Amino acid sequence: MRKWIALLSLLFPLALIAQDVIKVGIFAGIKSNGGKLVASKGDYIVVSERDTLVIREGQSADFRANGEEIRVTVNGRSKTFHRKLTFRINGWDCEFSLQPSGLKQRTYYDNLNVYAKNGRVIYVNELDLEKYVAGVVESEAGAQYTKEYYKVQSIISRTYALSNLQRHQKEGFHLCDKVHCQVMFGKVSYNDDILFAAYETQNQVLVDQDINLITAAFHSNCGGHTVNAETVWSNSLTYLVGVPDTFCLNMKQSHWEKKVPIGEWESYLKEHGCTLLPDSLDTSDTLGVEAREFFRGDSTSIRLVDIRSKWKLRSTSFVIEQDDTHAYFKGRGFGHGVGLCQEGAIHMAELGHLYPEILHTYYTDVHLIDRKLIDFFRE
Ligand SMILES: [Zn+2]
Ligand SMILES: [Zn+2]
Repeated sequence: MRKWIALLSLLFPLALIAQDVIKVGIFAGIKSNGGKLVASKGDYIVVSERDTLVIREGQSADFRANGEEIRVTVNGRSKTFHRKLTFRINGWDCEFSLQPSGLKQRTYYDNLNVYAKNGRVIYVNELDLEKYVAGVVESEAGAQYTKEYYKVQSIISRTYALSNLQRHQKEGFHLCDKVHCQVMFGKVSYNDDILFAAYETQNQVLVDQDINLITAAFHSNCGGHTVNAETVWSNSLTYLVGVPDTFCLNMKQSHWEKKVPIGEWESYLKEHGCTLLPDSLDTSDTLGVEAREFFRGDSTSIRLVDIRSKWKLRSTSFVIEQDDTHAYFKGRGFGHGVGLCQEGAIHMAELGHLYPEILHTYYTDVHLIDRKLIDFFRE
């Protein structure tokens, strides 16, 4: 018996990775007791035990929860459901707009499940994995980049989604639509290249040497050199190691400046036992990992990540200069510096580099494989 349980727990994540449909908790965390759905593209149906309500393209359905019951009205006809109601696509390319009462409407792909619990409703968008990936990429990356860059983001977002499918298991869906998982405002609305990029890289994920999905960390701009995972987090990872990067050097987020009143800066240093105040100090002159870890005083040191968080700096790569009034931080990059540098990747794509080369530049010793072949490769 024990053997079977062990085997099942091994097989379960694999079964999830082969998942073609993702359940996303949308409008997650809002308090809603009902709203309105419009069939914005194609027809939708609501199947009950006895018959079917049809919502033709352009028509709408109103629904409201009362305790565990949920009542839906379409064209003057009403039906009551217990706990769950599904608006199902009647075709392969359908979209619905959803407006929970009092909130702004958003448009989504595929099916919608509505659950009633204590008079509140929970919305779960059940959609094709690649459409989900495209929705995330547009919500998180914006609509102004090349298709090749969107392929890079698609693979990162797909890899992340598939390694986090158990996050909201208790709530009845895989992932929420907020920063906690990955932001998804709905369908791709501003650039169709994003949808093409998701399908042109269909099923491709990044795995490490042991064929495990990687933690595909990324940040806005590394300032010229990415850093090892353990510089920022507690664990090292074989594929998250610092690499030089010249592609991001002249991009939007490559430089920043911040000034701090000299008194505040001096007392901060004193509090941490650092009394050494050279006229100018450069944390990035060697660009090595060691140099980026510590700000060194006479006998003690402060971690650069702590300086960054205390003074709300954009990165840990900076020069400090001082005069009688202020300490001036002149920095490079934006973000934690681990994994893929987004502005470097954007520039590589603009220069004509293809997505596998871009991914292999920032993630060390990884493989790009079809998620459905993961168990094959593991054997
Ligand atoms: Zn979440
Ligand atoms: Zn970079």
